[in-house]
Amino acid sequence: MTKGRLLYLKGVATLRLEQDLCIGCGMCLAVCPQEVFAMGEHGKARIVEHDACMECGACKMNCPVGAVWVQSGVGCAQAVFNAMLDRGREACCQVEGKPGSGSCC
Ligand code: SF4
Ligand code: SF4
Repeated sequence: MTKGRLLYLKGVATLRLEQDLCIGCGMCLAVCPQEVFAMGEHGKARIVEHDACMECGACKMNCPVGAVWVQSGVGCAQAVFNAMLDRGREACCQVEGKPGSGSCC
């Protein structure tokens, strides 16, 4: 893992990679701010740090063959962005999680 990279909740990022579709263009590596991808030995991207994904959607938007899928606009990172834009509001993803709390965080 790269020093200083932020990690989020384990196993919750919706990121998926269809390696069979990948043509090895490298766009996902270039645009990902979290260094989630690496290029594999066979010229296809692979996910090396799934839990670092903050679901920004840049990889999905820039993959020319639709090999990457992620549900952007939800989750922890989006909650932090929303709270930053709406000062005073507590960061919350609104995802059901903890009993009685109304959210997972
Ligand atoms: S959604 Fe953003 S952070 Fe996650 S893998 Fe794609 S580019 Fe990286
Ligand atoms: S952007 Fe898509 S085609 Fe290009 S390396 Fe990444 S997964 Fe493969």
